[in-house]
Amino acid sequence: MTLKSILVSAALASTVATGAFADGLVGIAMPTKSSSRWISDGESMVKQFEDAGYQTILQYAEDDIPNQLAQIENMITNGVDVLVIAAIDGTTLSNALENANYAGVEVVAYDRLIRDSPHVSYYATFDNFKVGVQQAETLVSGLQERFADAEPWNVELFGGSPDDNNAYFFYDGAMSVLQPLIDSGRINVVSGQMGMDTVGTLRWDGAVAQARMDNLLSAHYTDTRVHGVLSPYDGLSIGILSSLKGVGYGSGDTAMPIVTGQDAEVPSIKSILAGEQYSTIFKDTRELARVAVGMVEAILEGGTPEINDTETYDNGVKVVPSYLLEPLKVTKDNWQERLIDTGYYTVDQIK
Ligand code: BGC
Repeated sequence: MTLKSILVSAALASTVATGAFADGLVGIAMPTKSSSRWISDGESMVKQFEDAGYQTILQYAEDDIPNQLAQIENMITNGVDVLVIAAIDGTTLSNALENANYAGVEVVAYDRLIRDSPHVSYYATFDNFKVGVQQAETLVSGLQERFADAEPWNVELFGGSPDDNNAYFFYDGAMSVLQPLIDSGRINVVSGQMGMDTVGTLRWDGAVAQARMDNLLSAHYTDTRVHGVLSPYDGLSIGILSSLKGVGYGSGDTAMPIVTGQDAEVPSIKSILAGEQYSTIFKDTRELARVAVGMVEAILEGGTPEINDTETYDNGVKVVPSYLLEPLKVTKDNWQERLIDTGYYTVDQIK
């Protein structure tokens, strides 16, 4: 235990009513509760930190940047020893991290890289490039399965939020698979809309994706059909599918396009089972929490955290030592093995 945490423990002892105050106080700043994955992340971390004897403050900022900044400042004021942050906008935290550093509080970037600050000790995440590769691979195998006779395939592309470093990794990973097929003429992006500056979806907002899909359909698909949509996140996929269903895809002889996703959220697993969304990517948030907890323990106890990447994540100031977990593809063929057999969901949650 550091001297600081002993002092903070003493200070908090009068205000914290119950519970053994073992090794430190961890502030966990999460982006939003509107997506269930972040709820799972928060719950897993609190449980694992408490099992390890730490206390936690967990807060969600509902995708509001000033709100997240205020929450982080409050956590620092409240004497946290370490901060674990999944940023809303990974470029807006430099000042907050200056303050954290001034207070002797180290920072772990959780799932999303925090950019433009030297004060990020570690980064716990998944192999984000591979997420994009896997999304595109399922898109292509779905196109082969459902639209074998329809080449060249008409495909539209969606990107994640341009203020989230991950969004570029997902897009670049996907394009490493799709660009050669576009170049060889097997895939046709009918709208011509490509590149993160054109296809990004601010704040990962499903309604924004739905509106963009509406526009694409009315501007480019009145006399031809769309066969596939690259979607980087389940919340966008649900919006895109609503738009497609709204003009008759998935009924009569108008086959539903292949729509990808990410996070294995319950509505999307249900949609996959209903034959609407084609695929998603499962990222086990329990594992990500385990990695982050290990990093915090190393910071507080002076151990060595698990690191398996010291090259990929340059935040503009430094390369942040990272641990990358493996993402997994999910379709109707393996959802049970991936999500039920591993205890991530119960069958009742899905059916
Ligand atoms: C995460 C994804 C998630 C997205 C939207 C990204 O930073 O890596 O898992 O789908 O944010 O919440």
